[in-house]
Amino acid sequence: MKCENLQGCPIYTGKIKIDNKFVYKYKREYCEKDKYKCARYMVKTKAGKSFVPSDLLPDMIDRAKKIIAENTL
Ligand code: SF4
Repeated sequence: MKCENLQGCPIYTGKIKIDNKFVYKYKREYCEKDKYKCARYMVKTKAGKSFVPSDLLPDMIDRAKKIIAENTL
């Protein structure tokens, strides 16, 4: 399922400067296919948008889990 955050997401819009091959991979495997495994999506939905670090990449699951654990009841 496509992510509903495509328009404002720095990964999808290319605002985060990372190698194009990673951007392509993230878009294909996360943004356009399975948003539920994306670290950014997890933090946004479970802790809130304000807790998503600008440099959090979709495959940084451990970091996402830590942020969620520290910022939810
Ligand atoms: S990087 Fe994650 S939050 Fe951003 S558009 Fe892709 S799936 Fe959604």
